[in-house]
Amino acid sequence: MIVETINRIKEEIGEEVTLVAVSKTKPVADIETAYQGGQRIFGENKVQELVEKHEALPNDIKWHLIGHLQRNKVKYIAPFVDLIHAVDSMRLLKEINKQAAKNDRIIKVLLQFHIAQEDTKFGFSFEEAKELLNDNEFVEMQNINVVGVMGMATNTENTSQVADEFRTLHNYFQIIKSHYFKFNPDFKEISMGMSGDYKIAVEEGSTMIRVGSTIFGTRNY
Ligand SMILES: *Cc1c(COP(=O)(O)O)cnc(C)c1O
Repeated sequence: MIVETINRIKEEIGEEVTLVAVSKTKPVADIETAYQGGQRIFGENKVQELVEKHEALPNDIKWHLIGHLQRNKVKYIAPFVDLIHAVDSMRLLKEINKQAAKNDRIIKVLLQFHIAQEDTKFGFSFEEAKELLNDNEFVEMQNINVVGVMGMATNTENTSQVADEFRTLHNYFQIIKSHYFKFNPDFKEISMGMSGDYKIAVEEGSTMIRVGSTIFGTRNY
């Protein structure tokens, strides 16, 4: 079922959109099943779980940290993480830059925006992000590559609200791209859309969806 679901979603979203299979709380065996079916990009939201699964599984998996990241844990994932989705402060970005330098790497990150109405969700406002992007400290960082933006819509049945929120993120992406990343072709990702709303997200221009429970089943925390 896991592989069939992945293939169905890939067909729905087309080749232009990347599928991150969100395997948090799920056993290594489930990831192996997906891997054998051809999936290579997996997302986790806890650092320790990510590190353990990275050690247990094949080296050509691209691991994405999709959840909130604490600064003191960056060092554990800096040697191998492929993409950090949820950068939401300058202090976190500085720590990622520092740990990436120690590992002689350039780490790809996304800037997380607060687009939902719930105030429990992390992320920058547009003004805060502009401040960061204009900051000399940011401009001088050598070991991070900002490749796009990320956001989570409100958890609601109101699909037009969800679409509005994704459209807002798409707008932020376009403005930021034209002002700050015109000459960086890597700045191209809009990470938005989960099990409940990825179809709307793709309609609104998502380039990367993060889907967990639809693929691996509901989670028991
Ligand atoms: C858990 C999680 C997802 C996947 O959620 P599903 O509803 O299971 O698809 C996506 N993004 C983030 C940031 C998550 O924490």
